[in-house]
Amino acid sequence: MKKFDYIIIGAGPSGSYLAEKLASKGFNVGLCDKKKIIGKPLQCTGLLTKELEKFVDVKENFVKNVTNKVNLFSKNESLSIKSKEYVVDRFKFDNYLLKKAKNSGVKIFLNNEFKGVKKNKVILSNNTLKTKTLIGCDGPLSKVNKHFNIIKNMKYFLGKQYIIKNKTNINNYKVYFDEKFKDFFAWSVPVTKKLSRVGIASKEMNNVNNKLDYFIKSRKIKGKIIETNAGLIPLFNPFNSNYKKINDLNIYLFGDASGLVKATTGGGLIPAFKSINESMKNIILNKKLNLFESKKELLIHLFVHKIMCKFKDNDYDSILKDANSRNIKTSIENINRDNLSKLAFKIFVRNPHLIKYFKMC
Ligand SMILES: Cc1cc2nc3c(=O)[nH]c(=O)nc-3n(C[C@H](O)[C@H](O)[C@H](O)COP(=O)(O)OP(=O)(O)OC[C@H]3O[C@@H](n4cnc5c(N)ncnc54)[C@H](O)[C@@H]3O)c2cc1C
Repeated sequence: MKKFDYIIIGAGPSGSYLAEKLASKGFNVGLCDKKKIIGKPLQCTGLLTKELEKFVDVKENFVKNVTNKVNLFSKNESLSIKSKEYVVDRFKFDNYLLKKAKNSGVKIFLNNEFKGVKKNKVILSNNTLKTKTLIGCDGPLSKVNKHFNIIKNMKYFLGKQYIIKNKTNINNYKVYFDEKFKDFFAWSVPVTKKLSRVGIASKEMNNVNNKLDYFIKSRKIKGKIIETNAGLIPLFNPFNSNYKKINDLNIYLFGDASGLVKATTGGGLIPAFKSINESMKNIILNKKLNLFESKKELLIHLFVHKIMCKFKDNDYDSILKDANSRNIKTSIENINRDNLSKLAFKIFVRNPHLIKYFKMC
């Protein structure tokens, strides 16, 4: 039976990124995925802030588009802000990270679903492996988490997205706020000059279809739907643990499996890479994780999300109007949503009437 220092379940972006990091430090790493082909089906908009540059080589061919503006819309106002963002092809992105892991010496086991653990033996559908450290990077419905009962009662948004064939302005992506879908927002992200990813998310899972239809109609989004994607997005909970030790087996969770996702935008990729980097020392020492920096930022996203859930159309209108009229755009432009604490602070200082929502969180 093959023995590994680390066995990682899930060869999505989190699993491959972590596997490559550990292998390049000289560890013997096994990376397992239930799929034969990684990166399909698409369950992501692939919109990433320029923080991405800190983690991967953005000159690679997974970048489909680089936007330089975001247009924000409320019922009666709009705001245009400079914002450099990458739109990635998730199939190419996931396979780029997988290839990097493979090239660093990671042993890949595709078509191998995680079934469970018996006496430190990791049971896969087509293999049995041995390790003292098992890492679950197996997505929002993590079986590793379920098997060890680490995070209980994870809550989710359901995201639904259409790939639409239409004429787009390739430079701008659009975000729409509306009290009819106030627990999230709707988006339209140009992938090429003729294709956009248009979607919405909500905690009210039974209502996502209605909300997406309402959005498409009310904003007169035109074009032919050529594909539909949907997927779960975990809601961050600061009290969740991402580590457990059972006898001499250490178990960690990362990526969507850990619920470390921005509650405001559903963005999970940058938080996954950040939390992995923050945890490397402790993983190597087989210690409990200290995710202070990651959790601090995600907590602010959660706080802002909870406040935004209470917003009425006129609150969105007032924020966008204020940002236009007082010309605070430049300062907003200098802060991206991966550093939300600074941005949120600025918005609330300039809109003190929003403080009323603090006590409703
Ligand atoms: C509609 C939508 C839009 C989104 N848009 C964005 C966005 O624009 N930007 C952003 O940053 N994030 C976005 N996200 C979130 C993003 O897709 C996730 O955060 C990201 O995919 C998490 O990566 P991961 O590697 O943790 O998990 P995943 O990408 O889910 O990968 C998990 C892997 O584990 C494998 N696996 C699962 N179970 C098992 C098992 N039992 N055994 C073996 N293998 C298993 C799966 O096959 C998969 O390959 C979006 C999500 C949705 C639903």
